[in-house]
Amino acid sequence: MVGVGPFFPDAACLVAALVGVLVGAAATAAFRWSERVQKTVPPGPEPLVDDGVVRVLAVLRSAAVVVDDSDAVVRATPAAFALGLVRDGALVHEPIRRLVAGVRADGVIADAELDLPRGPMGPVTLRVSVRVAQVAPGLIAVLVDDLTQARRVEAIRRDFVANVSHELKTPVGALALLAEAVSEAPDDAQAVRRFAGRMTDETTRLSRLVHEIIELSRLQVATTDGLRLVEVDDVIAEAVDAVSTTASARSVRLTVGPSTGLQVTGDRQMLVTAVRNLVDNAVAYSADGASVSVAARSSRTDAGVDVAEVVVVDEGVGIPADLQERVFERFFRVDPARSRDTGGTGLGLSIVKHVAADHGGDVTVWSQPGRGSTFTIRVPKADQGVREAPNPQEDAA
Ligand code: ADP
Repeated sequence: MVGVGPFFPDAACLVAALVGVLVGAAATAAFRWSERVQKTVPPGPEPLVDDGVVRVLAVLRSAAVVVDDSDAVVRATPAAFALGLVRDGALVHEPIRRLVAGVRADGVIADAELDLPRGPMGPVTLRVSVRVAQVAPGLIAVLVDDLTQARRVEAIRRDFVANVSHELKTPVGALALLAEAVSEAPDDAQAVRRFAGRMTDETTRLSRLVHEIIELSRLQVATTDGLRLVEVDDVIAEAVDAVSTTASARSVRLTVGPSTGLQVTGDRQMLVTAVRNLVDNAVAYSADGASVSVAARSSRTDAGVDVAEVVVVDEGVGIPADLQERVFERFFRVDPARSRDTGGTGLGLSIVKHVAADHGGDVTVWSQPGRGSTFTIRVPKADQGVREAPNPQEDAA
């Protein structure tokens, strides 16, 4: 016991001292921490946002705003400012303020999808989903997700499906009618031959349409796998070869420019498809016996990018100025009847546009009704940006 007596007072002192230090450190830390939190909260009346809420808001993807009893904004995330939800310490949009008032009155979480003006002026709107909830006594949080882009993609997809269904229905309907006509005229050999010929045309159209839809969807999931060095001269030769039978059937003279040795990096088959679509159109929208020329050349864009250009020139019907941009839209045709006669699907140029974009390039058109059209695909040359690293010693010298 003798030895133990003095030990206890010492241990007690030590523990007391330790506790003192810990409490002091904790208090200092707590003070500093609360000071830091306070600094990030805009100055305003109590109540301050609970730190748990602050931390949750910080990790949320949604734009978030917390308002107090008087509708003053006590906290807003950068995304909320970016969406223009907050101005002068208050919520900008009346529909959101109404939701907040409702939640304040009945305490029930409110969800809504709203169209909000993007800015104080102009017709552009944002499609947003809003959730409003009470997060602490006197505090209401508004969470906003921007659905604009998602809704746009959805609308494009819906349009595309509707267009495809419509485009498929036409040849399928025609085939059904033709089959009926054949079965009703078994003894009229001439009529049967005529109907059979038209059935062949419709099936060709149908299979071309299905092929192009598949090609388009393949492009939309294109990755950078399988990209190779592609000789532009070879692409042109293969594309022209694929169209030569159609061209000679209509006595259209197809000429190819001199070899250039130009190379691009990309998917050779896709590039052939793109150039073939342009040559196909040039022949289809020209009169019998007209000339179509295809050539490659080297050029430099205004932004200083070295590109390989493939230029397809015809002397055909041309395209009115106000429709020249629209021809790249899916299923758009200047003259649906003519496109139908030529077996067109309305997808050819949208495929060209996708292929060019997937190769970091673009496609442009010059055209004059009655004089003809010139389509130009531009793709960056393969050796872009490959330069030898400068020798630092030489630089220094
Ligand atoms: P289509 O299968 O109908 O040819 P495209 O997407 O290839 O579809 O072309 C869209 C429309 O653009 C065509 O229907 C046609 O009206 C117009 N067009 C395309 N190329 C030419 C051209 N070389 N000359 C005149 N019109 C063209």
